[in-house]
Amino acid sequence: MSDGASDRIPFLDLRPGPDAADVRSAIHRVLARGWFVLGPEVEEFEAEFAAASGAKHAVGVGNGTDACFLALRAVGIGPGDEVIVPAMTAAFTGLAVLAAGATPVFADVDPETLTLDPQACEAAVSARTRAIVPVHLYGQAADVDAITGIAATHGLAVIEDCCQAHLATAKGVPVGTQGAAGAFSFYPTKNLGGIGDGAVVTNDAATADRLRQLRNGGQTSRYLHAIAGVNSRLDEIQAAVLRVRLMFLRAFTAHRRALAAFYRELLPESAVAIRERDPGHVYHLFPIRSVRREALQTHLARAGVDTLIHYPVPLQAQPAFAHLSPRECPEAMRAAGELLSLPLHPRMQTGDVLRVVEAIRAFERGTIHA
Ligand SMILES: *Cc1c(COP(=O)(O)O)cnc(C)c1O
Repeated sequence: MSDGASDRIPFLDLRPGPDAADVRSAIHRVLARGWFVLGPEVEEFEAEFAAASGAKHAVGVGNGTDACFLALRAVGIGPGDEVIVPAMTAAFTGLAVLAAGATPVFADVDPETLTLDPQACEAAVSARTRAIVPVHLYGQAADVDAITGIAATHGLAVIEDCCQAHLATAKGVPVGTQGAAGAFSFYPTKNLGGIGDGAVVTNDAATADRLRQLRNGGQTSRYLHAIAGVNSRLDEIQAAVLRVRLMFLRAFTAHRRALAAFYRELLPESAVAIRERDPGHVYHLFPIRSVRREALQTHLARAGVDTLIHYPVPLQAQPAFAHLSPRECPEAMRAAGELLSLPLHPRMQTGDVLRVVEAIRAFERGTIHA
């Protein structure tokens, strides 16, 4: 795709590749059937996604934020409850806690992996804490063992935010299966991207039942609303597309890992990659840290390499959460000033990685890349 040296290396390329023909026929199949919301494609997809994720149940919902929020509600989290959330994540993790009516409490992250620091998590536990939401950031599992240990000690629920971590594992165990539930997003940029939706996986049948009820207005049977649920349903076209993409996901994940390994091998020492703690890392993103981040980003843009920052503002510093008077999270703050995500997606080739690395080396040499 981008063999010509003059081409830009886009941060992402979301046009269907080898899956294009199958995606088109899946969409057509749904149109021809004329059943558009919570139908046979959703049921099949839920079964297939649960199997791929190593969970007993999957419940398709409106998006990843809803998946987090509904999982919290399904395990009984609500007003008056505190939920511990890492400071370095998409703000949507914190917003999901607010949507459940609970209060997010931000805890600092491990400086090397930027996932929830178990010590900071433990220190954030109060008498009102009811749950922990570890985030498997950039595609790598948080320290699930330590976090489930803290949760067990204090009697807390664990809802795993798996929105960046489809097929990721921690010591061989699939993410989303060690706590009460795991929340996934199928936003188009995610490793398993639809045209934008989510799902919750759980091993608990009662939680799955409650989720099915909550996503559909709280109905127990048609037109009988036993609880005040929400409208957060997965539609048939999304499910049909996701079923196709799920078949390609293992191959795409292997390709992501190969590209990441290539980056690691070639990057100069000043561009510090986030540590890979576990080979179950699925590389949703490939951030590096640089103390000259702004200059590097400008240089890369001129060299035709698109980059993004995940995330420039940690949650404790977001205006949306200022009313919670959050505690300081210095590691998240420091990382936010240094992070720069390099392009990494299944349609990239090793030649693209070489060009990105060459552009970074040129920056190091203080020369401007043509
Ligand atoms: C994308 C994302 C979400 C939200 O998912 P949506 O489908 O966009 O609502 C939540 N948490 C994390 C870590 C994410 O990356």
